[in-house]
Amino acid sequence: MNETRIAVVGAAGRMGRMLIQAIHAHPSARLVAATEQAHSPYIGHDAGEVAGVGALGVMISSEASKAFGPGQVVIDFTQPAATYVHLELAVAAGCSMIIGTTGFDLAGRERIRQASCSIPIVFAPNFSVGVNLMFQLAAEAAKALGDTVDIEIIEAHHRHKVDAPSGTALGLGQAIATAVERDLSEVAVYGREGHTGARERSTIGFSTVRGGDIVGDHTALFAGDGERLEITHRASSRMTFALGAVRAAGWVADKKSGLFDMGDILGFKTR
Ligand code: NAD
Repeated sequence: MNETRIAVVGAAGRMGRMLIQAIHAHPSARLVAATEQAHSPYIGHDAGEVAGVGALGVMISSEASKAFGPGQVVIDFTQPAATYVHLELAVAAGCSMIIGTTGFDLAGRERIRQASCSIPIVFAPNFSVGVNLMFQLAAEAAKALGDTVDIEIIEAHHRHKVDAPSGTALGLGQAIATAVERDLSEVAVYGREGHTGARERSTIGFSTVRGGDIVGDHTALFAGDGERLEITHRASSRMTFALGAVRAAGWVADKKSGLFDMGDILGFKTR
């Protein structure tokens, strides 16, 4: 089995540390570089020690331009402004990229698409294998049940989350709407209050729960007459995202160029 050589940018972040743990535990992945912002207190520290897996001999650097080399896979869970810099450096160095960072606008997504003409990129708002499988299962259920059920999406996250509904809930809604040929922007209902009137069958409802340290729960509910089907995913650790990203790194390493998502890696399309 070929070894996948991985550079983790944002190495001291919540996801960065998880990624280094996941790479360390993987039989055919190796951490070859780790970066952080110039003012980070972790510059010069061993990335393995920061991640809690013991010294790996890879020091955290602020110089991504020196950290990237041909044939490497760069995993980026940082912030959009940093990802743009990493994209340019990855293209110049001939690296593949795994992008888990969220919050890109349309122009940002276009920059990623442009870069994917030169290098292979896996870009996904959720790297959990289970969530991406759930998109597929929910789309299948929606196709099979069609207009015989009411469709609702319920999500729960920790008290610090600032946006609602979650990007994953919206992605789930999009996968379902596409499957039943509805325009999500026309049929989505975000919360209900007061005299709402009877429910219209074609709508897709979203409900949000916020509290405590919930990592992320999502349910697609298909409610018919006399029965209901619920498809639920619960994330209990950020490790699920890290494992998916490292799996994607192994998959993308031998690709030449192109834009991919987790659906490609799992053998089905989710978007
Ligand atoms: P975090 O703030 O803990 O970590 C981000 C790290 O990136 C920080 O340590 C920061 O210093 C570093 N960073 C910022 N600019 C940098 C630069 N120019 N060079 C190097 N490092 C830089 O955040 P987090 O919780 O780890 O999340 C990071 C991103 O990943 C967010 O956008 C989040 O929404 C996303 N995320 C995606 C998934 C997924 O499955 N796609 C899962 C979890 C989080």
